Amino acid sequence: MADHVQQFASDNYAGICPEAWQAMQEANHGHEPAYGGDIWTARAADAFRALFETECEVFFAFNGTAANSLALASLCQSYHSVICSDAAHVETDECGAPEFFSNGSKLLAVPSSDGKLTPEDIRSLATRRNDIHFPKPRVVTITQPTETGQVYTVEEVKAISEVCRELNLRLHMDGARFANACASLGCSPADITWKAGVDVLCFGGTKNGMAVGEAIIFFDPKLAEDFDYRCKQAGQLASKMRYLSAPWVRLLSDGTWLRNGAHANACARRLAEQITGVPGLELYFKVEANAVFIKLSAAAEKALRERGWRFYTFIGGSARFMFSWDSSLERVDELAADLRAVAAESAALTAVAR
Ligand SMILES: *Cc1c(COP(=O)(O)O)cnc(C)c1O
Repeated sequence: MADHVQQFASDNYAGICPEAWQAMQEANHGHEPAYGGDIWTARAADAFRALFETECEVFFAFNGTAANSLALASLCQSYHSVICSDAAHVETDECGAPEFFSNGSKLLAVPSSDGKLTPEDIRSLATRRNDIHFPKPRVVTITQPTETGQVYTVEEVKAISEVCRELNLRLHMDGARFANACASLGCSPADITWKAGVDVLCFGGTKNGMAVGEAIIFFDPKLAEDFDYRCKQAGQLASKMRYLSAPWVRLLSDGTWLRNGAHANACARRLAEQITGVPGLELYFKVEANAVFIKLSAAAEKALRERGWRFYTFIGGSARFMFSWDSSLERVDELAADLRAVAAESAALTAVAR
């Protein structure tokens, strides 16, 4: 495979978008106070308050695993538990970091066919045990959009948060691809978060086009108490914080965050449209954000790899393609053409075998 050719195995294969790059360059003048005392970090926090139309507390971490783990740890005591989907990144891809940073809070994973949690799932798990021998449910975490590319509607988040309030549970949102969800829903960031009952949001910058960095947003300032100490202890307090925060100032204020998300979503729809109805290419999940999951025969999967395409099959055995701010439409069309070709070849081979 030629180096530098676009691949859609992960949205993290993409580089830094020009706006984020320029913002880092702009911040790279002279001296600024360290550890978040700089002007860029103050401006970024204000940009989040403007975007979310509320007085939220904002923190920055290097990656999503830290953002999620520290946010969950701040909502839990060690004897508490966290309800999540069995497809959740916190459950499947964080190497136990949520349990580690919370000193043992247990994740309670609910089996889910599409990656989403429902109010019924939450109620039945949270009320199944209330004896002292079981870790007390304290938090619900949902991923928006899910690891399977599904987007929770405002009504769905509200229904979840109502159950949470009733059962005295906090609601955390893993928004590693939050921009893709907002672009898909066409709603305001406030509508799908605090106005729908979300207490804490981890807002992904990396998959949105930054070099590095996620924002942790507390909509209830009381929950943010001492969170700065937690970040520092976990090795997540950037000394030259301006390089994590300056890109947010630019991306949030000129709409780049949403444009990047919308472009990635459009590429996913473009691929889905070109393979819909093609025999041997079955969409495994609905395409609602920047992910396309395709069920392929083993022969077609092998042939696609031989044509140089990289992709993962860790979710449900289907081939996953993720699009990003820089995905080229021509390259998406090349993938669609190769998918159709390998499906046709694999169908012909099957016919001969019969
Ligand atoms: C990418 C991702 C994260 C963050 O992962 P890091 O590699 O730790 O930055 C968190 N949640 C979801 C759903 C993700 O896809």
